[in-house]
Amino acid sequence: MNHHLTETRFKDFDIDPRLIKGLDEAGYEFCTPIQAQSIPISLTGKDVAGEAQTGTGKTAAFMVACINRLLTNPDHDKHQKNQPRAMILAPTRELAIQIHKDASAIGKYTGLKLGLAYGGTDYEKQRNILQDGVDILVGTPGRTIDFFKQKVFNLRSCDVVVLDEADRMFDLGFIDDMRYLLRHCPEPDKRLSLLFSATLSHRIGELAYVHMNDPAEIRIQAETKTADKIVQSIYYPANEEKIPLLLGLMNKLKPTRSIVFINTKRVADKVYAWLEGNGYKSALLSGDVPQNKRQTLLKKFQDGEFNTLVATDVAARGLHIPEVSHVFNFDLPQSGEDYVHRIGRTARAGASGFAISFACEDFAHYIMDIEEYIDQKIGKEAVTSDLLTKPKPPIKMERRPRPNKPGGNRSGGGGNRNQNHRR
Ligand code: AMP
Repeated sequence: MNHHLTETRFKDFDIDPRLIKGLDEAGYEFCTPIQAQSIPISLTGKDVAGEAQTGTGKTAAFMVACINRLLTNPDHDKHQKNQPRAMILAPTRELAIQIHKDASAIGKYTGLKLGLAYGGTDYEKQRNILQDGVDILVGTPGRTIDFFKQKVFNLRSCDVVVLDEADRMFDLGFIDDMRYLLRHCPEPDKRLSLLFSATLSHRIGELAYVHMNDPAEIRIQAETKTADKIVQSIYYPANEEKIPLLLGLMNKLKPTRSIVFINTKRVADKVYAWLEGNGYKSALLSGDVPQNKRQTLLKKFQDGEFNTLVATDVAARGLHIPEVSHVFNFDLPQSGEDYVHRIGRTARAGASGFAISFACEDFAHYIMDIEEYIDQKIGKEAVTSDLLTKPKPPIKMERRPRPNKPGGNRSGGGGNRNQNHRR
């Protein structure tokens, strides 16, 4: 988690005891800052627009308000089977699944029914659940609209709307879908609307102005942009030292669970092959790994079958991975935002974590922007010979189909980077 816990307890809020019980059992006792600041407001029925990133506890921040409202709203018996009472929109299926999971835990004793809508798989299964009737619908905009247009459900009784990671939904081109769904909900002054976004930018402000009812804006102070509990360090290896250094650090630090971030898919393949060749069971998560495979890999990673995940930014987007002990930036990311996003994968929920970056010959020049963005200098470490492990050979990778043109690597790293840095 990117933030310490506050002194505010969930028990201090005037919320339904069934909700308290679920929170308690799921291990939520003290609030994170975004929870402590937003819940008292949203519980009064006022809309909230919160600036909060993944790992800050924003999911529970909106779920508590959402569930409590459904439990206390006297209208709740009037809605029909095909009318969800809350709609939560999220940019990626991984995030939707995670929200559904957190909500099921927190809402375990409330009797509220949950349903998911996301693309890729399980079309009939999702449809059947929604048709049977749910109280809370968690979905990505595309699939949610699809079911909506087929009249699997309608939004006339939708009393709570949540837009999670709103800025990413913009980035991924979902803005028209979001507006469409919002227009089919009750008027903004007749429902509770909650919005969370990594930044409350101008475009988010406009969305909030039209589709929310004068929301209270909540921002967590800028100095907590990077986590207090993340120990950050940086090495300056030569290019050919990067693999020996990664292996040397792995040997020395013995991370319980780590993510190695790479800028390009091509290099991600290579690093994965080196790690496997040197006895580190790893999972490779790059852009061309199909969605369902990503989900299985992630599950195995979560269950401890692998303890190293090699990932590009695009592939890691929206994934929720608890308790990562170490983040390695094998390649420095191009922007401060990406840096913060990557290292935010460690030190969640009060645990401490380590973020280790390599400023190599190719990417060292990104460091200025990153340090400016996080407004601090990252501690420099020396690449000493004892840290360089002589690698065993990499494993042979299955050949992937390549484009015909020599050098024309269509789905390669460049593609990943472009998607990531569209400005
Ligand atoms: P989120 O930012 O919502 O993705 O939450 C990040 C992680 O922190 C999730 O695994 C949550 O279960 C956990 N978490 C959130 N709030 C709390 C809290 N108040 N106490 C303990 N764990 C929390």
